[in-house]
Parts: sequence; C-alpha cells; structure tokens
Amino acid sequence: MSTDVAKTLERIEADKVKFVRLQFSDIQGLPKNVAIPAWQAEKALTEGISFDGSSIEGFARIEESDMVLKPDTSTYSLLPWRANECPVARFICDVYMPDGTPFEGDPRHILRKVLAEAKEMGYTFNTGPELEFFLFKLDEEGMPTIVPQDKGGYFDLAPTDLAEDVRSEIVLALTDMGFEIEASHHEVAESQHEIDFKYGDALKTADNVITFKYATKSIALQNGLNATFMAKPKFGINGSGMHVNASLFKDGENVFYDPEAPLQLSEVALHFIAGVLEHAKSITRVANPTINSYKRLVPGYEAPVYVSWSAQNRTALVRVPSPRGKSTRMELRSPDPTCNPYLTFAAILAAGMDGIKKQLVPPAGVNQNIFEMTEDERNRSHIDTLPGDLMTANRHLLEDTLICDTLGAHVIDGLNSIAQMEWDSFRTAVHPWEIEQYLTRF
Ligand code: ADP
Ligand code: MG
Ligand code: MG
Ligand code: MG
Ligand code: MG
Repeated sequence: MSTDVAKTLERIEADKVKFVRLQFSDIQGLPKNVAIPAWQAEKALTEGISFDGSSIEGFARIEESDMVLKPDTSTYSLLPWRANECPVARFICDVYMPDGTPFEGDPRHILRKVLAEAKEMGYTFNTGPELEFFLFKLDEEGMPTIVPQDKGGYFDLAPTDLAEDVRSEIVLALTDMGFEIEASHHEVAESQHEIDFKYGDALKTADNVITFKYATKSIALQNGLNATFMAKPKFGINGSGMHVNASLFKDGENVFYDPEAPLQLSEVALHFIAGVLEHAKSITRVANPTINSYKRLVPGYEAPVYVSWSAQNRTALVRVPSPRGKSTRMELRSPDPTCNPYLTFAAILAAGMDGIKKQLVPPAGVNQNIFEMTEDERNRSHIDTLPGDLMTANRHLLEDTLICDTLGAHVIDGLNSIAQMEWDSFRTAVHPWEIEQYLTRF
C-alpha cells in the first residue's frame, strides 16, 4: 500500500466516515456515483471498484460493460451539507477498462491527455469558470417551477436579495470543500446568482465545476429551492453563462503577459486567442450542448453571438479582461453551465495550442458594440457568426478534425447521437409558441 493510500485511509477513519461516494461523470458532464461502506475504501483505493458502464450515457456497449473506478485521492472531501447525518465522503474517480487501460470515453481522461500534451510544451493550463444559476421556488408538491425566489438585480443587497442566506450557505460549504471563493453576488436577472472561485489547474477546476453544481443543487433543495444551471430558463431575461477565463503558465509565470508588448499581451496569448477563434464554431457544440443553450446565444443579453475578440467590450466572444501580470487571461464568454467542463476545457486548450503551433494571428480586435453594427459592417470586418442551433454546431464539430481527434471517436460518436436524438425530439414536438401563433389564426 502506498503512503498516499495509507494517509487517505487514516483521514477516512479520523473523519468517522460511514459511506464513501465514488463519483465520475458521463459524457454530458452529469455526475454519477456509487456509494460504498467505509470498510470497502481500502479495496477501492488499491484495486478499484467494478461497475457496469452500459447504463451510463455515452459510455460502453453491453458487450464491453465492465469498467473500474479508481479514486483520485487528491479529490477526497467530506460532503458538508450532510453534516447532520453520518459523515459521507466522496472521491472523484478515473474510469478504467478491466485490462487496466484508461477508458477513452471518460471525460476526465480526455482532459488529462490534452493537459499532458501542453505539459510537453512546458505549459500548465489554468481555467477560471464563472458559473451563473437561478434559484426557483418549488410548488406544494415539491416539484421545481420557474417562479423566481426574489426580484433582486445585479449586486443587490437584502431584503431584495432573499437568496443571501442560501448563497452564504453554499459559499461556506464550498469553502469547507477546499474552494477559494473570490466573490458571490446577485446577477442581472431576478433570482439569478454567481459565485466565483479562484482559478487553478484545469483538471482541478473541471472537478470543481461538477462539485459546485452538486453542492449548489443540494443546498438549494435543503432550503426548499431548485437551483438550475439550464442556460436560458426564461425568455426575455438574461440566461446563465459559464465564462471560461483561461491562461497558460510556464515555470510558475503567466506566459500570456508581456509588459513590453502592445496591450501587454504576449505573442503566445495572441496565438492562443487566434486558435480559439479559429475553432470557435466547433467548440460551441461542446460548450453549449443543449437545444436550450442556443436561446441564450442571441443579441441583447451580454451573451456572445459573433466570433470576435476585444480587450474592452463584453459583446465579443473572447474578451481580455483588464488585469495583467499573473491575472492576464482570455475570457471565452460563450460556454454555459450545461457543458461538460472536462470536454470544454479540453477543446479550448486544443484549439489554443493549435494556434500556438501554427502561429496563428487573430484578426484586429473589435472594440465597438457588435450588436449595433449592421450586417454589412460586420462582413467588412470579417466577423463571423456562432452557430444558431445545436445541429449547426454539431456539423461544425464533425468537420473539425483537430477537435474530433482531441475528444476521440468514442466521445464524438456519443455527442453526435445525443444531438441527433435531442434535435429530433425537439423538432417534432409542438411548442406553446406554435399554439399561440397558429391555433386561432388558421
Ligand atoms: P468578470 O469580470 O468576468 O465577472 P470575475 O471576477 O467574476 O470576472 O471572474 C474572473 C475569474 O477569472 C475568476 O474565477 C478568477 O479566479 C479567474 N482568473 C484570474 N486570473 C486568472 C488566470 N491567470 N487564468 C485563469 N483564470 C483566472
Ligand atoms: Mg463574473
Ligand atoms: Mg465578478
Ligand atoms: Mg456574471
Ligand atoms: Mg466574466
């Protein structure tokens, strides 16, 4: 037994843990878990625990369904919102085939692979995702509604911001779980919130995104509310985004920063941004994976629609926020919190590295409000448009060899069939809008 395993077992004992949850995520980034009694932890940590992968979305076919979960000991954490019951701990796991090779459909493995490629070039990839979400009331039967819990607005204080207590509870729980919370505030729309945590290595922050959603949903429910990370729950008000701040470090230094360069942005930063813009349309399929995601990517709500970058304005797809030095970063504003963070970070990094390898140069930054430009003006500035729906985005992904190779055939096939299925079901459904428009008119 390694000292790492021995230390982890000691902690499990010291924390009086009764159950251990072994967590991983499916291709859509939805968390799955099996619980084992604490006495099984040693087996889990040394040999791994077998499970049937055939029932997991985008995982194995029936005939190759045996898979093994191996806990990543660095992800050990108690679940603080279950403190009143017997202590429960969780690990985030890597998924292996019975022969000991990593499972190629495990999103965490795919991100690990791209991070290793970056490491070969000397780079560490840091991400800082900003998750927005809504807190909605439950009805008498305890079912979720879209009735807002408050009427607060951006940065409002109580009493308009009724969610303050729930938000603090979430912040405290996440802090207990090792998050460094930088800020938490009411967002623009009523009942919409944002909690920001400190950026870090992309694997860790991808894990954090999963934990963040799990904790937020659990604590909201304990308070009689439903937390939703759906991209656009309501027409006419802001949707929820998950801006991804990203930078590359080498030997502990931020290589996006160059105090001598124009805008103090290094060549590497510009190549990276150019790569992300080059692959923006296919990244959209990954970063905006639901039918509903595309109802957020419309003009007028701070969400991006056009492929451009800017060091100033928030209508651009890629913004370079003003801080420099260690905080120099690009912010991709398209992703929403329904995305699988592992696959999204993998796609962004692969695109950025492609830009670096090919020394791509981004077009001139667009510093005016793009929504106020005419189509002609946009064409003259070569500003392309993001895909307007899931199927269009899916087509772009299938045509993008780099991103397809990065995610691998298994995941691409899975994403493709999910898109086809959802699109078909959406395409053939009769929506309230149609009833409203046609029922009496015809
Ligand atoms: P915004 O102005 O877009 O609302 P926030 O302050 O809400 O920005 O979030 C900024 C995020 O960027 C935080 O999660 C922060 O930790 C992260 N961040 C800061 N520096 C870096 C960096 N060098 N690389 C990646 N992310 C970073
Ligand atoms: Mg923010
Ligand atoms: Mg902020
Ligand atoms: Mg925000
Ligand atoms: Mg932001």
